[in-house]
Amino acid sequence: MVEHVTKSFGALRVLDDVSFTAPSGSVTVILGRSGSGKSTLLRTINHLERVDEGFIAVDGALIGYRQQGELLFELKEPEILRRRVDVGMVFQGFNLFPHLTVLENVVEAPVSVRGRPRAEIDVEAREWLARVGLSDKADAYPRHLSGGQQQRVAIARALALKPKVLLFDEPTSALDPELVGEVLDVIKELARSGTTLIIVTHEIGFAREVADTIVFMDAGRIVETGRPDQILTRPREARTAEFLSKVL
Ligand code: ATP
Ligand code: MG
Repeated sequence: MVEHVTKSFGALRVLDDVSFTAPSGSVTVILGRSGSGKSTLLRTINHLERVDEGFIAVDGALIGYRQQGELLFELKEPEILRRRVDVGMVFQGFNLFPHLTVLENVVEAPVSVRGRPRAEIDVEAREWLARVGLSDKADAYPRHLSGGQQQRVAIARALALKPKVLLFDEPTSALDPELVGEVLDVIKELARSGTTLIIVTHEIGFAREVADTIVFMDAGRIVETGRPDQILTRPREARTAEFLSKVL
């Protein structure tokens, strides 16, 4: 849940009174032109950016709360780090560890962050790799994989931490066109299985298929929110219609 979140970088107000709720098991797609604040919004949900106003709660757990510039409540840094694990994130660039195998990439965080035994995680990690269709690549190094395969490893790695919500920031925009589909298919499968997802993407067809709710942002504000058929075919706001006329 994001409530009245405002965030500025210097004089630039990047998020302006943004509120929305992503119910458990739902898929929210965030659309908006470049610079509208989409990545910053995801980064605040992941607690990589502190908010100036408002609050963010993941599964009822609050990190901090500011109102009229006054800090009302804030967790300490070690607790914030623990909570960050509740929010998985997959970026445009896959950010895999180049010196680790695919399996080691997936195993690393649950062992180091969650402190779980390696043998137990190994079994689970192989299940996650099977889920993204990469069972046969467990012992390969990232440099020997295609971009689409690397991104699927990044998804398996995020899932291995069992996050309560998984954020995707343009997960296919660095991929060659013929590799986009295999990554979107994995995300669609996650959506069907009830994982809570918040996805920034420019893939409108995919958004229509997978989203329960589309949030359209412009200049740091949520312009409108609705079901895909409403937003994509009957937008209420001129700015949404203008954006769609450029991307559809
Ligand atoms: P894109 O579609 O290009 O990824 P976006 O919607 O994700 O864009 P953001 O990356 O959230 O947009 O950026 C919103 C605005 O905030 C931009 O004007 C950007 O230049 C600015 N911005 C983002 N991060 C910082 C930062 N750390 N310091 C200063 N300005 C920033
Ligand atoms: Mg961005």
